[in-house]
Amino acid sequence: MPARTGAQFLRGLRDNREVWLAGQRVTDPMDHPALRGAAEAIAATFDLHYEYPGDCLMPDPETGEQIAVSHMIPRSREHLLQRHKALRRVAEFSVGLMGRTPDYMNVTYAGFAGRSDEWGANGNEEGAANLVAFQKELARDDLSLTHTLIHATVDKSKGNVPTGFDDTQLHKVEDTEHGILVRGARVLATLAPFSDEIAVYPSQPMPDASRRHALSFSIRMDTPGLKFICRDSVSQPDNRFDHPLSGRFDEQDAFVIFDNVEVPRNRVFIDGNLPVYNSVMSESWRANAMHQTMIRAWTKLEFAWGIATRMADTIGAKDLVTQEMLGEIWSYAELTRAAVRAGEEGAHEYGNGAWFLDSRPLGALRAMLPYWLPRVNEIIRLIGSHNVLATPSAAEFADPRLRPLIDKYLRGAGDVTAEERARIFRLGWDFAGSALASRNEQYERFYLTSGARNRQGAQLRADRTEANRLVDRFLREPV
Ligand SMILES: Cc1cc2nc3c(=O)[nH]c(=O)nc-3n(C[C@H](O)[C@H](O)[C@H](O)COP(=O)(O)OP(=O)(O)OC[C@H]3O[C@@H](n4cnc5c(N)ncnc54)[C@H](O)[C@@H]3O)c2cc1C
Repeated sequence: MPARTGAQFLRGLRDNREVWLAGQRVTDPMDHPALRGAAEAIAATFDLHYEYPGDCLMPDPETGEQIAVSHMIPRSREHLLQRHKALRRVAEFSVGLMGRTPDYMNVTYAGFAGRSDEWGANGNEEGAANLVAFQKELARDDLSLTHTLIHATVDKSKGNVPTGFDDTQLHKVEDTEHGILVRGARVLATLAPFSDEIAVYPSQPMPDASRRHALSFSIRMDTPGLKFICRDSVSQPDNRFDHPLSGRFDEQDAFVIFDNVEVPRNRVFIDGNLPVYNSVMSESWRANAMHQTMIRAWTKLEFAWGIATRMADTIGAKDLVTQEMLGEIWSYAELTRAAVRAGEEGAHEYGNGAWFLDSRPLGALRAMLPYWLPRVNEIIRLIGSHNVLATPSAAEFADPRLRPLIDKYLRGAGDVTAEERARIFRLGWDFAGSALASRNEQYERFYLTSGARNRQGAQLRADRTEANRLVDRFLREPV
């Protein structure tokens, strides 16, 4: 079928899933006040397909039906530039505040299917064929996927990945007539209440783990035994004036328990094949998936710079300290834009005819953004000072006893009205100081692994050839 609309997406969420939020079982997110806003926001990203068909839709290479561009398996630089436009449309919709809009998993699985040669190594031909068939289904049914890669933390002294067998971690119990039975836990399924399926695939290699932990698959959210425990909601759905962002962009995160869950055979992509589990998250994955993440980050940084600049203007803050901090945010945004463009410029074939970006500039961003984005929040709070907390609510603006006083004492510099001033500072607080902002800061610090690990990885992966050449000139000089 062609790319879905938002209404079709919302209808698909009504099933018998076991999503728990604050002790309540949620069967339809549209029925829950803390989830409805984000459900509608994700639905709006589906509607973008038909608002901007030139950017967001393309013909399915086999059926000719119009599918979302984010499902494209890129075969050239032009394909990646086409995908850029679609990813930017989605990123702009949530101004980068929703990291796991369905395009993230669409891009990831398009990359996996493009490198089916990696998944089909070491005798895993059946798993790779299942994955390729699944990616077509994902594209044609235009599913929304959540995912979980990380092993549950029980005792960090035992390491980040299982050594041998650990029955708390996701593992295979046995073969069944129609597939496999799995049990155990994983973190942290962002977007879970707004997904049709959950995908499981590797993260860090686990060289000494039991092969029973080496699993990859995708199953429907209402598969019996699958349980999701959501974190506390940070949604503030009352009105768009008081909470311009947190009423709609809380994408949720959930701990996942697989309590004896049967995975159909045709949805199993890795079943005990440790060498494949330990190798598929290769350079290709980084070079592909970070296209979505960094376009989102760039959009968010541009938005942050816009908020901060407008806040300063609103109160006439022209001092040099403020200008310096604004210039810092602009620089992060510009460096992110430049790195995405450099990645696209250096795109090349990674094997099997699949084209992805030059991963080096994206890897550098991955090492910096977990520090830049919290710093951006800090700057917005510094520029905002008490002003982000001196913001009457919509109800106070509507009160005739208060309104004349608010209009007089809470207006901004020049001809900025009290309402304009309250709106921009509320936006700043919702972006940098609210409960949503706090969750988002945690997301930026960890969603692609912690900044520290990313810097270690950047150093370990870096090509030293050119740096060595520059240094060797001096080390080899005659005395
Ligand atoms: C909001 C949010 C959403 C997420 N969404 C998803 C999702 O959708 N799907 C998914 O699979 N996962 C998701 N995750 C999980 C995420 O992938 C992990 O949190 C991330 O990989 C970090 O793993 P960790 O928590 O084990 O932390 P670690 O990598 O262990 O880091 C935690 C801390 O440990 C310390 N540390 C210990 N050893 C080292 C070391 N060698 N190097 C550096 N630091 C070290 C540091 O202080 C570090 O900050 C999400 C996480 C968050 C916070």
